[in-house]
Amino acid sequence: MKVKKLKGFRDVLPEESPAWIKLEQVVSQIFTRYGFAQVRLPLLEQSTLFSRTIGEATDIVEKEMYTFVDTGGEQITLRPEGTASAVRAFVENGFDRSNPKARWYYIGSMFRRERPQKGRFRQFNQVGVECFGWKAPGADADVITMLWDLFTALGLSGRVSLEINSLGCADDRKAYSDKLAKYGAERIDKLCDNCKKRLGKNPLRILDCKSPSCQEATADAPSPVDSLCDECTEHFSTVRILLDDQGVPFKVNPRMVRGLDYYSRTTFELLTTELGAQNAVAAGGRYDALVEQLGGRPTPGLGFAIGLERLILLLGDEWASADTPDVYMVYTGAEAFLMAMRLRRLLMLRSTTTTIDFEQRSMKAQFKSANTCGAKWAMVIGESEVEKGEVTVKNLAESQQQTLSINNAIELVSTKIIASDEE
Ligand code: ATP
Ligand code: MG
Repeated sequence: MKVKKLKGFRDVLPEESPAWIKLEQVVSQIFTRYGFAQVRLPLLEQSTLFSRTIGEATDIVEKEMYTFVDTGGEQITLRPEGTASAVRAFVENGFDRSNPKARWYYIGSMFRRERPQKGRFRQFNQVGVECFGWKAPGADADVITMLWDLFTALGLSGRVSLEINSLGCADDRKAYSDKLAKYGAERIDKLCDNCKKRLGKNPLRILDCKSPSCQEATADAPSPVDSLCDECTEHFSTVRILLDDQGVPFKVNPRMVRGLDYYSRTTFELLTTELGAQNAVAAGGRYDALVEQLGGRPTPGLGFAIGLERLILLLGDEWASADTPDVYMVYTGAEAFLMAMRLRRLLMLRSTTTTIDFEQRSMKAQFKSANTCGAKWAMVIGESEVEKGEVTVKNLAESQQQTLSINNAIELVSTKIIASDEE
């Protein structure tokens, strides 16, 4: 019996990987310009890290985490998101004491046991950003603008929309939560069973419920924006002014609460209408209490995460294509094979991509493969080339060929390739 991959897990095969590589390059380039540096954090953490930060009454912690006891008896969890680990690392490495301002980003896999669908997997990848140490609204605007610049660089700014909201500080959130609990209790018959439970534990989550009856019941629910204190109102207003000034288009969505418990003040999402129910491509917000909550010195912070599978779906197949080899080595006979292997190596040392077949097939078959794989040149070594120590260089697209010394052949092909790369 053949072993199959787990449900909700994927293989990224060579035809898809150029898009992943290109995406990581664009991300690093833009984020580096904004002063963000990459961190690489563990995939496994102590389970309590997530239950304490994401929140006990969230879908992730209630039912989606891959948690198990390892052979040492420790309860551990495959990370469902990156912020908790980043904050843990920030505190554990003493950044909160020595250098409380930091701009970090990461790229990597997250694990959530949800129902797999298009754009929803059990192992998925995120690019995440965490910006520590700035309480001021400039940081919010900067991080959101960077996200917008990335989508613009990817050519997607016309296909996503940015929504923002503010949940206020802890006091505002508490006041709002009470207001919403009261509002929900008055409509309890119309809420799904899950939301009935949420009402006692975490009323904000009823706004996030995907059930149509809950959405209808909460259609005119109070907005967190109406419960903001003066300072939070001012903060939110400055974020909007700064975004306007940067020309970043956004809409205020007063219902946006986000699925994780740690957010305060600004929250935001990048949405698309092109992926069905999976409409969020990126999401984030401020989490000013999280560092302290994990035992660090009080340090404000904010961040976002982008779902890369959804982003790659949006970018489509045409966005990045597999590299084709520059040169195909065509040879006949044992001695020609040795020459071909040596020549291939010299070409590769000069940054030329080459390919060769080891099975000593007919020249005709080799030419056919050269055309199918999209090589631009063939280096042909037959009996007469072996005798004279030469090589025939064939431009496959133009069907032109010339026989040259080995050095001249290398020179010709590598300069032509450099020239065509620069075009
Ligand atoms: P959703 O509402 O779609 O479940 P979420 O609010 O749970 O998203 P976050 O925890 O904010 O998502 O994660 C940020 C981004 O990661 C999402 O906007 C989405 O693009 C992506 N993402 C989240 N869960 C998955 C998943 N199971 N498969 C693929 N991408 C995901
Ligand atoms: Mg989710």
